[in-house]
Amino acid sequence: MSLSALVSAQKPKKPTSGEIFHKIERLGFLGSVLYVAAHPDDENTRLISYLANEKKAYTTYLSLTRGDGGQNLIGPEISELLGVMRTHELLQARSLDNGHQMFTRANDFGFSKNAEETIKIWDTEKVKADVVWAIRKTRPDVIINRFDHRTSGETHGHHTASAQLSHELFEAGSDPKQYKEQLKYVNTWQPRRLFFNTSWWFYGSEDKFKKADKSKLMSMDVGVYYPLLGKSNTEIAAESRSKHKCQGFGSTGTRGMQMEYLELLKGDLPTGKEDVFEGINTTWTRVDGGDKVQPMVAKLIAQYDFRHPEKSIQTLIEIHTAIQKTKDPFWKALKTKEVEDLITECAGLFLEAKTNSHKITPGDSLTLDIEIVKRLDGEIKIKSIQGQGIALDSNFNIPVVLNEPIKWSEKIKVPETTPFTAPYWLVNKGTLGLYNVEDQAIIGDPETQRNLKVRFELEVFGKTLIYNKEIVHKYNSPENGETYRPLEIVPPISVKVKEPVYIFSSDQANDIKVTVHAWVKNQKGTLRIPLPIGWKSNPEAIEFELKQAGESKDFTFSITPPSKAEEIYISPEVTSLGKIYNKSIIDINYEHIPFQTVLMQSEAKLSKLDIKTNARKIAYVMGAGDEIPASLKQIGCQVDMVKPDEISAEKLMGYDALVVGVRAYNTEEGLKFKQQTIFEYVKNGGNVVVQYNTANGLVTKELAPYPITLSRSRVTVEEAEMRILAPEHEVMNRPNKLAANDFNHWVQERGLYFPSEWDKNFTPIFSCNDPGEQPLDGSLLIAPYGDGNFVYTGISFFRQLPAGVSGAYRLFANIISLGKHARP
Ligand SMILES: [Zn+2]
Repeated sequence: MSLSALVSAQKPKKPTSGEIFHKIERLGFLGSVLYVAAHPDDENTRLISYLANEKKAYTTYLSLTRGDGGQNLIGPEISELLGVMRTHELLQARSLDNGHQMFTRANDFGFSKNAEETIKIWDTEKVKADVVWAIRKTRPDVIINRFDHRTSGETHGHHTASAQLSHELFEAGSDPKQYKEQLKYVNTWQPRRLFFNTSWWFYGSEDKFKKADKSKLMSMDVGVYYPLLGKSNTEIAAESRSKHKCQGFGSTGTRGMQMEYLELLKGDLPTGKEDVFEGINTTWTRVDGGDKVQPMVAKLIAQYDFRHPEKSIQTLIEIHTAIQKTKDPFWKALKTKEVEDLITECAGLFLEAKTNSHKITPGDSLTLDIEIVKRLDGEIKIKSIQGQGIALDSNFNIPVVLNEPIKWSEKIKVPETTPFTAPYWLVNKGTLGLYNVEDQAIIGDPETQRNLKVRFELEVFGKTLIYNKEIVHKYNSPENGETYRPLEIVPPISVKVKEPVYIFSSDQANDIKVTVHAWVKNQKGTLRIPLPIGWKSNPEAIEFELKQAGESKDFTFSITPPSKAEEIYISPEVTSLGKIYNKSIIDINYEHIPFQTVLMQSEAKLSKLDIKTNARKIAYVMGAGDEIPASLKQIGCQVDMVKPDEISAEKLMGYDALVVGVRAYNTEEGLKFKQQTIFEYVKNGGNVVVQYNTANGLVTKELAPYPITLSRSRVTVEEAEMRILAPEHEVMNRPNKLAANDFNHWVQERGLYFPSEWDKNFTPIFSCNDPGEQPLDGSLLIAPYGDGNFVYTGISFFRQLPAGVSGAYRLFANIISLGKHARP
């Protein structure tokens, strides 16, 4: 079996002697834990770090989804691109807390109120298979659920569903009749215990928790201190949690005692009620042939010399040999890898294969720089260097001399057949509930294995060991110094439509810009946008030539819509030397995760609307980040971005409306000083539209000129009926006459964080609710104030407009046009 799943292409870890010893201690522990929840950031990093570092267990976090449906507080990526980011945030978190990471194919399709709805949308059979796969692959003695499987409806439906699946499937991994196709790769497995990681929070209050029956609860102090690492467990947990940057989960470490509670759901309760492994053999004697290994590990620990870790290499080699004679394939593979890593670390051995470019196309050549250096003594020879995915085969038989680097370069052709780099779960189009991955061997892997590697064959104290290193791109950044990037395999030509959605608000032609990018020099071809009948492109095709690798050019097509309202999808394509290229390359570039490249079909939606707006000049205050400004430009508005400190009476005077971006009152501290100016603008005839905020962490109590109270109420069913409470209101009639069909084809949800109470000056426009729930009337509230209008809305325009939902455009156009009369 493969134990892939290591974070790719970052700075190699360079552990201190203390950290090496911390890892050596783990060699003698053969116990596994699977922690189960639904999203990146659900996991309790205190417990994961405690199990991995204090108990020394092989600890895996199974996040059923990759968190595509979340919001991004630090950049524009949403949906699958956000899922890619959050996947890597989890991998970064695990590299700090020493846990491992797995996923299922379940897609985070957005908020879900209960487990029943969740299960219906996921392809349940496949998600179940993947949970069983995770159990069989990580062979946990103990499974721990983050959420309570008994309380559907009290938290996100994905949360309860994760706990229900883990509860339901606890025994399924041991049944050879279930999910038989997996048994080609893994053996059956029955975990011993299932727990729910409870806390006072699940009981409603600390007081209630104090009084609750704790006969089935275990507790443990996870506030332990690790002198070898110089940190408390809780400090590591906070650093790990802080990697969830796109969710704003920065966390400050605490020190001292910290209790965690586990409620037994299945299996036997440990009598001591504090060690989840009590009564389970977690030494080498649990595996056939392991009895010889345990004393060797004990000797290694006893004799470790903190000043000279290299003195441990010989014993590690002996342990390596002994492990090869054990029979359990799971522990054998896992511990072999641990020992091999320790050998290089104890020798201060640095092995690297880097290249000077970061994007390579199949058929192109790269310059490979290889470096081998041993910085502590030990008998090491280099036997051969071979390429994986590239033709490289050099045989040597030379000793590696202490602190004398061996370096050389080779120019190597990347085979024409090399697959492009892409997150494996996005290669084939999935459904709302599930990623489309059929290859059983890679299901659950956190990321795609990179294709190009170098295989170093070494002889260490007479024993042959193999180290596979991904080829990485390394460069010096003047700002950050040594910087690593994964090497990406990309097509020679990529195309990108500038915007994901184009709105045609009249019969007039719209310019659509397409960027063509060449990743190899001297590319020629023909670019066109295939269109359905009724739509016209001028010109029909454009011939182009790009001389330099990395060069790009923009081309403009003038597209004329049909006269009727219609929504279509286009995918521009380049024909070059008989091949068609229609993919775009999207870079995800943040400092806290490795650089990512996502290859996706270049697609845009063209929406011919029947729309009018009386608002032309819009001031926009960006909050947590949304795409509304671009959407408003598409219906002919001029949109000026305004920072909170630039807000003044004079500044606002010239605008038809001031639109405040999503969560601006959560993220823009400066707004609290500008509320009076904003209200004054409304009083003088202005129009202010505030989009949703969360009630927690508002920068001001005075959100509106009249009292308003936010709640957590939301309507997650995008087809939920919108009952019109104020049919005569201007917002329903001018300049666009709205009707029931304007609420068709919305995406993901109706809205969120609706106000629950409001001053009588506000008119609620709609009433809506999820199936079986009480009506909510706070989705759109409009109050006249002075000569103007103040609007508060939790309707998720930030999702609808970028998705080109025509009815949402017509409603938003009416909102920003309030009080404005038709212009000539
Ligand atoms: Zn969650």
